[in-house]
Amino acid sequence: MISIISRFFPQSYIELSRLLMRLEPTHPSKKDFEKKFYQIEAGYFGEKLVDNTLLEVKFPPHCCTLTDVHLKIHDHLIIQMDTLIITKKYLLVIEVKNIVGTMTFQKHSGQTIRTLDGVKTPFECPIAQINRHIQALEQMKLPLPIFKAIVFSSNRVILENIPMDEPIFFRKNLPSFIQDLNQKEDRINTSQFNELIRRIQSTQHVVQRKPLCDRWRISPDSLIKGLLCKVCGNILKKISNKTWKCTKCELIDRNPIDHNIDDYFFLVKDTITTAECKDFFHLSSTHEAYYMLKKSNLSRLNFARKSVYQKNIEV
Ligand SMILES: [Zn+2]
Repeated sequence: MISIISRFFPQSYIELSRLLMRLEPTHPSKKDFEKKFYQIEAGYFGEKLVDNTLLEVKFPPHCCTLTDVHLKIHDHLIIQMDTLIITKKYLLVIEVKNIVGTMTFQKHSGQTIRTLDGVKTPFECPIAQINRHIQALEQMKLPLPIFKAIVFSSNRVILENIPMDEPIFFRKNLPSFIQDLNQKEDRINTSQFNELIRRIQSTQHVVQRKPLCDRWRISPDSLIKGLLCKVCGNILKKISNKTWKCTKCELIDRNPIDHNIDDYFFLVKDTITTAECKDFFHLSSTHEAYYMLKKSNLSRLNFARKSVYQKNIEV
């Protein structure tokens, strides 16, 4: 039995939420970014729903569930799986789709067409997608059979033309599929299981991302500058030497730099100087920027006569 499954908001969700908070309302791509944000959000909540469904399953005692797994199979092959379940009997790859409307599978063309309110939208075929993951895992020559499940998490989806031989499920049907897998014999012993977990974990890939403005060619000039409120996102106003107050919700903030500095790192650049800090957060002086950066939980690197700050690398 699994008592809890950890799944964190994807980094792309956090970055986009910061971008939407900071981007000028008139920016021509704002609507597109909002759409992307809501898609990522829907995907995440669909995956959470499936996690909760997995809690219904009685798993064998040796079982490991990894979520949002990025594995580097080799230098040119990195795969991302929504969920990977590892037992002594099998591996199970789960791909979650949180889509509403009517999904029509066209196996011959490798496309899936979604019809919603009369509008047809092509999607990448989830069967082709999960098969690529399985083929990649097979390259690792793991000592267990690998199974797959494509799970539609929403109740508001109609599936048409599902290929008979493919494990495509509505969320509520997933537990009985897994219960059947759990009836299988163990293929490996406990030390081999532990070794397998170690091997898979050592293949996990940490995605290194450039700041969003770089990746999506957004000018940092189109970002709203200043220190923002961590609750409502409005501008904070300095009311005394060490105290800021939100101009809208009136929240008092005595350490606004720690949560605002992430915006700079996610969106603009992965290092910051005192001059850049003064400019981006509209501080009154370089001295104030220096004081705030010194107080923050950042690493300081010294280059010639200039100090540069960056996030602490967690080991
Ligand atoms: Zn506020």
